[in-house]
Amino acid sequence: MTTKLVLYNTLSRRKEAFEPLNAPHVGMYVCGPTVYGDPHLGHARPSITFDLLFRYLKAEGFKVRYVRNITDVGHLEQDADEGEDKIAKKARLEQLEPMEVAHYYTERYKAAMAELGVLTPSIEPHASGHIIEQIEFVKRILDEGYAYESNGSIYFDVEKYNEKYRYGILSGRNLEDIVTNTRELDGQGDKRHSYDFALWKKAAPEHIMRWPSPWSDGFPGWHMECSAMSTKYLGERFDIHGGGMDLMFPHHECEIAQSTSALGHDSAKYWVHNNMITINGQKMGKSLGNFITLEELFTGNHKLLAQAYTPMTIRFFILQAHYRSTLDFSNEALQAAEKGLDRLMKGIEALGKVKPAAQSSVNPAELAQRCEDAMADDLNSPMVISALFDWVRIFNQLVEGQQTITAEDLESLKATVNRWVFDVLGLRDEKSAAAAGGKDMVTPLVNMLLEMRMTAKANKDWATSDKIRDELTAIGIRVKDRKDGFDWEIE
Ligand code: ZN
Repeated sequence: MTTKLVLYNTLSRRKEAFEPLNAPHVGMYVCGPTVYGDPHLGHARPSITFDLLFRYLKAEGFKVRYVRNITDVGHLEQDADEGEDKIAKKARLEQLEPMEVAHYYTERYKAAMAELGVLTPSIEPHASGHIIEQIEFVKRILDEGYAYESNGSIYFDVEKYNEKYRYGILSGRNLEDIVTNTRELDGQGDKRHSYDFALWKKAAPEHIMRWPSPWSDGFPGWHMECSAMSTKYLGERFDIHGGGMDLMFPHHECEIAQSTSALGHDSAKYWVHNNMITINGQKMGKSLGNFITLEELFTGNHKLLAQAYTPMTIRFFILQAHYRSTLDFSNEALQAAEKGLDRLMKGIEALGKVKPAAQSSVNPAELAQRCEDAMADDLNSPMVISALFDWVRIFNQLVEGQQTITAEDLESLKATVNRWVFDVLGLRDEKSAAAAGGKDMVTPLVNMLLEMRMTAKANKDWATSDKIRDELTAIGIRVKDRKDGFDWEIE
């Protein structure tokens, strides 16, 4: 099992050849959503980035176990150890059971991801379903001496850990910087130091999400679920840990500290982070009024949106940037993505109409090679798309007869396009798919009608011929007559 894939590892700060620990098996863990609100634009980028990696590894022949968690407990406001649980707060405001909130938004998230063409991971474990595993993990850290109990809560002892290992190894911070940059003062609350973080929190009487533990009735700290669930499903060592750059500190840094203190080593071999989406140059945030949910994008129902954008337009927009680059959202950028995607899909439609010849004047292996090289270079999806665009021009030349291709080469070209456009980039043709509930029935039906029209014309039955053309035009299918037949496109 070999692959040319080279991945940027945040931990080593360089690109590394991808060598799985146990090929052909690959273990991949990605931090999923905290389910207390509608899925939004910020959710789309990590899910599409790691879907691209998942799809590519599968296309390369790996057997991938992809675990993406659902955070339904322990994620407190301000991402710190204080404040109300995000889900419990929503439940209180809407007078719902917390698990009702978590279930509702989990379903909304999954539906939106399906629209975006994001494949379902192999396992989607919930934090609330793994309290026992989290308690066991906390016990291991306590046994190793890297945590302390204080008033029923358990905190990670960052200073002790930092004596043997390095806290801040992933984000490139050191403890002194962290001390300088914390606003919290030592000696406030139950922690010894402001930079210590909770592994288990004793629940206040009004806190409704609570479980028994050896230390108190309470709940796990936010970072604990990922250490516990990745170890449970992928083992003490696995290949890839992914997530958005915003999770690097403190979340992933704390995960590394937890796993290293309990197991004696970090669990993940490659740490992969996608960059963030900004909106008109600004960070997305509820307080800035530029917070856009995926549903608002799909319907166009938001004051910042000039129009609705289809899920594939959003996906294409995200894939047109390298996952480690920043990506700025604007109507202009999305409209350009919409046009680009349309051009690509029309090109593929044209390829379907190419008639084979005795000789090839083009070499389909060149497209395959360009796509392969680009994706292997740290998932360079924009370069894959640019190779495909160069070939859309060739597809059109093939239809027009300015270039020729043999039947065998044509088959291999179509296979290359299928692999990259549909399997790896995960795009779908929304226009024909929408008309037939996912299966392209439009193409054969329109071709059949136009064949009938050719017969009518041959019989000088102009009334039938015109009727077929006019009715097709009326439903948005433009027919173009050619010397040797016809051509058509969906408006
Ligand atoms: Zn996580």
